[in-house]
Amino acid sequence: MRSSLASLEPPAPCATCGQKVAGVKWGDLCPDCKAELRRRAMPLARIISFVVALLIIGYAWLRIPLGPVSRIWVAGIAIAAMFLVRKIVLQIAMEVLRK
Ligand SMILES: [Zn+2]
Repeated sequence: MRSSLASLEPPAPCATCGQKVAGVKWGDLCPDCKAELRRRAMPLARIISFVVALLIIGYAWLRIPLGPVSRIWVAGIAIAAMFLVRKIVLQIAMEVLRK
């Protein structure tokens, strides 16, 4: 819940471009800078998550005797890991690229 005082607070400048946008807190980025940062971080997140998925599939291929059911499990786990790793790497990359 926002207090009535918070709405009277003047907007803080964006930490990167200095543009004053309503709803931006001190040290935060404006929506434009956030989108730009996300655009720069996305390729790295894509590559790393793809490599992780390939590693999981490669490990399962070489180390686990695969039956028809376990193949489906491996595929599911590889896809789930890809999305999870993409999300994590995206957050980390955005924090690192900010500096
Ligand atoms: Zn900005």
